[in-house]
Amino acid sequence: MQYGAHSTDSLMYITNRPDIVFERGEGSWLTDHAGRRYLDFIQGWAVNCLGHCPPEIAEALATQARTLINPSPAFYNAPMVELAGLLTSHSCFDRVFFANSGAEANEGAIKLARKWGRLNRQGAHEIITFGHSFHGRTLATMSASGKAGWDTLYAPQVAGFPKAEYNNLASVEALIGPQTVAIMLEPVQGEGGVIPADVAFLQGLRALTRERGILLIVDEVQTGMGRTGKLFAHEHAGIEPDIMTLGKGIGGGVPLAALLAREAICCFEPGDQGGTYNGNPLMTAVGVAVLQRLLAPGFLDEVLALGDYLRAGLLALSEKHALQGERGSGLLRALILDDERAPDIVARALSMAPTGLLLNAPRPNLLRFMPALNVTRAEIDQMLAQLDGLLAR
Ligand SMILES: *Cc1c(COP(=O)(O)O)cnc(C)c1O
Repeated sequence: MQYGAHSTDSLMYITNRPDIVFERGEGSWLTDHAGRRYLDFIQGWAVNCLGHCPPEIAEALATQARTLINPSPAFYNAPMVELAGLLTSHSCFDRVFFANSGAEANEGAIKLARKWGRLNRQGAHEIITFGHSFHGRTLATMSASGKAGWDTLYAPQVAGFPKAEYNNLASVEALIGPQTVAIMLEPVQGEGGVIPADVAFLQGLRALTRERGILLIVDEVQTGMGRTGKLFAHEHAGIEPDIMTLGKGIGGGVPLAALLAREAICCFEPGDQGGTYNGNPLMTAVGVAVLQRLLAPGFLDEVLALGDYLRAGLLALSEKHALQGERGSGLLRALILDDERAPDIVARALSMAPTGLLLNAPRPNLLRFMPALNVTRAEIDQMLAQLDGLLAR
């Protein structure tokens, strides 16, 4: 489409985008180039945990931009130290490496596990991952992912990621061999269709990895930072993993991610790991602001309550329209349809009047909901009312 003096065709084609240019955002609302408003239940793919343009992020960015933007990753800076301290004191992990994307954090986790295997497990390097998993779009993280078609898309793959079946402990056990160094999974498979790992499965994986002397890595890029109503989703199962990655919500909309590990696992030596923007104060200052808000008394309890509220609303719609129910954790939820009309519903939601609605269909029979963690009940009610209309046949 033409937009002012320019055409959107100057952008490399990677996906079909609607003829909309978003110009403003506030809380759960976006406004496009024509002044149309949209209620946003995607929030940058579970990224904007405090909604669009929250004052604490705008303030952190402006203040830090006037103070120090980039001293170089070879030096400490104040927000980097503060955010690492906050993360380690509110998790079971001892050390943090900051990255710019979830995929980059996961690359770091893979490298750390392989290095640890070289030092402690006679060169064991295989990381067992799962069917339908999603770990990012670099070559190694695509190879780790269990997405259909990705095994051949950019062949050859990075080797060493055998795939087990999610929520099936025996399938994991069957893959463990002398070359196995770790098991990596998402506590809820987000892109795979909002499929939560059973508590017993997570606990079983923790026991199994301890027994075999291998590492447990949780990819909490989507589930971390309060999304499921706990700061980190693995807390629901009461387990302590060896390595965790964070992304999406940790930056509340700016590019920030993190790799966390227990002290005993940390074996990088100078030159093994790094990156130009890693731990830059502009982004880590935002991370501090986001985390402080999530840690405020009552915030995460309210996420749980809002998750229950959304769940009840989705179940009522499921019953009314004879659908297949819903699933998820906290404010990461999915409504399961009885047919493959989810993409059609997403398209019609976008163009609804008087206000559009942003929804996501990770699968043709599934609608995913990942609103801001501070979404209001009134906004949930409005989304449910619009969805009710869309579901009517
Ligand atoms: C989004 C996502 C990633 C990739 O994060 P990027 O920031 O897009 O690189 C990795 N793992 C999970 C579970 C995700 O949801």
